[in-house]
Amino acid sequence: ADRKRLSGWTVYAPELETVRPADLTLLSELKRAVEQDELLLYLQPKVCLHDGSVRSAEALVRWQHPERGMVPPFQFIPFAEQTGRISMLTHWVLRAAMRHTVEWRREGLQIQVSVNVSTFDLRDQGFAQRVFQLLRETGARAEDVRLEVTESAAMDDPSTTLKVMRALVDGGLSLSIDDFGTGYSSLAYLQKMPVTELKIDRAFVSGVRAGTDGEALLRATIGLAHVMGMPVVAEGCETAEEWDLLQALGCDYAQGYLIARPMPVPQFLAWRERHMPF
Ligand code: C2E
Ligand code: CA
Ligand code: CA
Ligand code: CA
Repeated sequence: ADRKRLSGWTVYAPELETVRPADLTLLSELKRAVEQDELLLYLQPKVCLHDGSVRSAEALVRWQHPERGMVPPFQFIPFAEQTGRISMLTHWVLRAAMRHTVEWRREGLQIQVSVNVSTFDLRDQGFAQRVFQLLRETGARAEDVRLEVTESAAMDDPSTTLKVMRALVDGGLSLSIDDFGTGYSSLAYLQKMPVTELKIDRAFVSGVRAGTDGEALLRATIGLAHVMGMPVVAEGCETAEEWDLLQALGCDYAQGYLIARPMPVPQFLAWRERHMPF
């Protein structure tokens, strides 16, 4: 596995394993993809474990490449992040997500969309201003957009990223801490971050069984988030057993293949229509 240097420490960086020579070509094509609308916005519902409602979804980008077909995010996102190309992609995803929320509001639907943002975005002092500019351009409401920040992204250059996060929150957006449990943030830092929601990484959810250490870890994490006043989302819920356990542990929301795979926007709306309990 590749390793990357991080302030004197060598850390395991699984995302670097996915960078192959073919990704270099892909990267040069990404600019074209953004300009020519080869990207597609998929949505994965986030279901409330208390009442079954679906009032929010996560935006996940897909690249419909003219020759290669559907290119999965792991083949271009990590590399786009390392080279800064990601800001172009973030901008595209944010605008697409915002436009949808405006359209839904017109139809009387209120659905919040969570958009993934990367370390690179958060280190950029102008990022919050660009998000606000997009809100003005699209006419979207800040409350309809949530930004997912990975634990490690937030730890990278904390003084700048904290400033950017605070500016976003001051502008009415809300933040989730993504992939929780896989990064290296301290509790002290977590307490300083202006986040409203904690998303537990799939690694802690998949295959978890009642009566195991895995369950104890989930219970502790959910308890920790609740003590800090944050609702918890479990990622990667794939089985009914996991769903039942999460519900029993007081977890607030779940996302995962058991509920639905990420899907194009029209399918998402039809799915939601069928599954909303009221
Ligand atoms: P993530 O933010 O942790 O997103 C969740 C990933 O888990 C998605 O993969 C989703 O399809 C997948 N997933 C959801 N439920 C299940 C499940 O039950 N089982 C399993 N095995 N997987 C599940 P996807 O769409 O391939 O995206 C992978 C990663 O790429 C994302 O991880 C995120 O880090 C990144 N990504 C995707 N779209 C964007 C984007 O628009 N911007 C940025 N910056 N990153 C993105
Ligand atoms: Ca995410
Ligand atoms: Ca995640
Ligand atoms: Ca993840």
